[in-house]
Amino acid sequence: MSREKRIVESVVLKKTFDLHKAEYEEAALRALNSGWYILGKEMEEFEEKFAAYMGVKHCVALNSGTDALILAFRALGIGPGDEVIVPAGAYIASVIGVTENSAIPVFVDMDDCMEIDADIIEAKITDRTKAILPVHLFGQCSRMDKIAELAKKYNLKLIEDCAQCHGSTYNGKLAGTFGDIGCSSFYPTKPLGALGDAGAVITNDDELAEKVRLLRNYGSKVKYHNEINGINSRMDEVQAAVLKVGLKYLDKGNEERRRQAQMYMDGIKNPKVAIPAVYKKVYHVYHLFPVLTKDRDGFQNYLYENGIRTQVHYPIPPYVAECYSELGYQWSDFPNAEKFAKQEVSLPIYCGMSDEEIQYVIDAINRY
Ligand SMILES: *Cc1c(COP(=O)(O)O)cnc(C)c1O
Repeated sequence: MSREKRIVESVVLKKTFDLHKAEYEEAALRALNSGWYILGKEMEEFEEKFAAYMGVKHCVALNSGTDALILAFRALGIGPGDEVIVPAGAYIASVIGVTENSAIPVFVDMDDCMEIDADIIEAKITDRTKAILPVHLFGQCSRMDKIAELAKKYNLKLIEDCAQCHGSTYNGKLAGTFGDIGCSSFYPTKPLGALGDAGAVITNDDELAEKVRLLRNYGSKVKYHNEINGINSRMDEVQAAVLKVGLKYLDKGNEERRRQAQMYMDGIKNPKVAIPAVYKKVYHVYHLFPVLTKDRDGFQNYLYENGIRTQVHYPIPPYVAECYSELGYQWSDFPNAEKFAKQEVSLPIYCGMSDEEIQYVIDAINRY
């Protein structure tokens, strides 16, 4: 192995883009030259294609994943005083979907696979609980057999945050298709990424789809006839056009990152660096590759000195975020979420990263 120093970025979007550069350029130019930029043919086609990929009746294309979450709760009629069960280690945007509707997030700790602990959800259900929001983190679908069963038993709405796991399955069923509605972000780094902001919801419920369609366009179907209190959250034609290209290569990209993840799992042999467990029934798409280490600063600095850039997902979990301080949670309320927030490091992983770079990271970690 060469000890020659190099720089390994945690993600290089340009390399992922370059894998299908000609097709992305063609798609973007087609949209630009069409003269129609909002609520057009590209968006409609993307909606059809994504719904077909997911095997559901409807996809409603939106401006971001955060909007998808906000509008999903709104369309389901979840509002002031309603409680929604969310993982304590979720991304902040997941919780924003709840609080933007004046509903109350009720946090549940994480399990050893770094997803919501499905075994302790039931204890958090009260007569005010209206919904469960599993957030499939890192590319791994949460334990949806158990969670869907609980939603059914207590007659709760089930909203899935699928922003990090396009193509991930649990028991062979796609993440996002277990509940009432699945919310996606197509932020550029996500498994299916646009070249700007974009998001969507998917559902089999005709009424719900129609409601989100209204909500994304000022609450109107017919211009100037505003039936409900909506917002503007429309996916633009350029993003829809490039997403159609991305969708063609989604499965291939997922396979590529799975192979990279396997190299890490086979190669990393250092007792100071733990690789979290993965559910047996899951097809993990490795949006990220998390490891856990006690001296995180020391580990990150060591890797940095070796040219390796890493990230942390997420250093401040939502239950202790400043914006939610009035909810009154302490760090120690959720021991696993606290541990992950303090020990997690995301290693470089992305489509277009070379095997040599992965090996360089593995070798550096094994020398740590
Ligand atoms: C990225 C992300 C979001 C937010 O999506 P945006 O498109 O950035 O608004 C929501 N939830 C999760 C889990 C995410 O990773």
